Amino acid sequence: SLAGKTALITGSTSGIGLAYAKALAGEGANVVINGFGDKDAIEKERQGLETLSGAKALYSGHDLTKVDQIEAMMKDAADTFGGVDILINNAGMQHVAPVEEFPLDKWDLIIALNLNAAFHTTRLALPWMKDRKWGRIIQTASAHSLVASPYKSAYVTAKHGLAGFTKTVALEVATFGITANCISPGYVWTPLVENQIPDTMKARGMTREQVMNDVLLAGQPTKQFVTAEQVAATALYLCSDAAAQVTGANLSIDGGWTAQ
Ligand code: NAD
Repeated sequence: SLAGKTALITGSTSGIGLAYAKALAGEGANVVINGFGDKDAIEKERQGLETLSGAKALYSGHDLTKVDQIEAMMKDAADTFGGVDILINNAGMQHVAPVEEFPLDKWDLIIALNLNAAFHTTRLALPWMKDRKWGRIIQTASAHSLVASPYKSAYVTAKHGLAGFTKTVALEVATFGITANCISPGYVWTPLVENQIPDTMKARGMTREQVMNDVLLAGQPTKQFVTAEQVAATALYLCSDAAAQVTGANLSIDGGWTAQ
């Protein structure tokens, strides 16, 4: 059980992040959720999380592309729960375009959210974890932290960076009972994947069906999408005592994609 622990999950109003929040709240952890979306829908999710085990759920909707807002979110968590025991850096965005046409603002946003935000949350969470001699830092990296695909330069750059950052943190905190690991999914059926289909159709001159079968699932040998619940189950494993010696690892959940 994770009762008495607090988990902060960035980008948890949707997709994989929401699945992590449900899994952790179900095990008794207090959760801090973050991300954008409809106010009423988010409040409903927050209340739903509190019914899973009776632990508390706090919503902190700051924009994690901005350092002062990351600091405000971490302060919200500390003010309510004391600190963060389980940090899941999950918020992320994608943009699909050739390098020479890649919009400069999109490059900066993707690096800020998918990479820099994890540095800031980690540096702010570590003092509490070190004091308590226990902590779990989990990144939703990606198969794109290990291999590349064309037209996703900012995303692949950020995720490779995140993988390197995680190994470094794992070494720095190895004697403090704190682990740091990446989970690297292949294609998970979430709004992030659905929303990139139109741009991929344009970039490659394909139909929707061709993008689904010939691009998304082309490299996934099982020919099935990963589910958000399967990713969340791996995070629960990483939080367990069984995973106390798993640190600095990059766990693939990609239907065999990166085995090729
Ligand atoms: P999603 O779009 O469903 O969820 C993204 C979350 O991030 C949402 O809650 C959104 O509101 C939040 N967010 C976006 N911009 C933000 C910002 N500036 N500040 C704070 N929150 C912000 O996406 P998802 O598919 O669940 O992706 C979650 C993570 O998983 C991402 O890091 C993504 O790169 C990674 N991932 C996804 C897949 C996949 O196939 N879906 C595969 C590998 C890795």
